[in-house]
Amino acid sequence: MALEIIESCVNCWACAPLCPNQAIIPPAPREKRAGPPQAFLGPLGGERSDAAFSGGSHFLIDADKCTECVGDHADAQCVAICPIEGAILDELGVEMNPPGSLTGIPPERWAAAQAEIAAR
Ligand code: SF4
Ligand code: SF4
Repeated sequence: MALEIIESCVNCWACAPLCPNQAIIPPAPREKRAGPPQAFLGPLGGERSDAAFSGGSHFLIDADKCTECVGDHADAQCVAICPIEGAILDELGVEMNPPGSLTGIPPERWAAAQAEIAAR
C-alpha cells in the first residue's frame, strides 16, 4: 500500500513536509547529481547524506514508509497538496489527480486547444 510519484513531478517541495511518515524523498540538486559526492545543505538547513536523495531527477515515495496516510489523515496529504495533475499514482497506477481535476478543464477541451495551438 503505497503511492508513487512519477516524472511529471516538478519538484515544488510542497508535499514532502506534509508527509506524516517522512516517506517523500527529494532529488539531489543538479550540481550534486553531476559531480562527486559532497556535503549538501537541504532547504531546511540540515545536512543531507546521499541516502536522503531519491537518486533521480524528481521526488519519489519510499514504498516501505508510505501508509497512504491511513491513521494520520482522512486524505493522502501529498495528493491533496500536489499542483500537478497525474504526478502521483495509486498502487494500481491510477492517477490520483486525473486530468481536469485541478484545472477544471475537461481533457477533451485541453486536447482541442493544444491541437489548435499546434496548427497555428
Ligand atoms: S500518501 Fe501520505 S504517507 Fe504516503 S507519501 Fe503521501 S503523504 Fe506520505
Ligand atoms: S507536490 Fe507534486 S509536483 Fe510538488 S514535489 Fe510533490 S509530487 Fe512533485
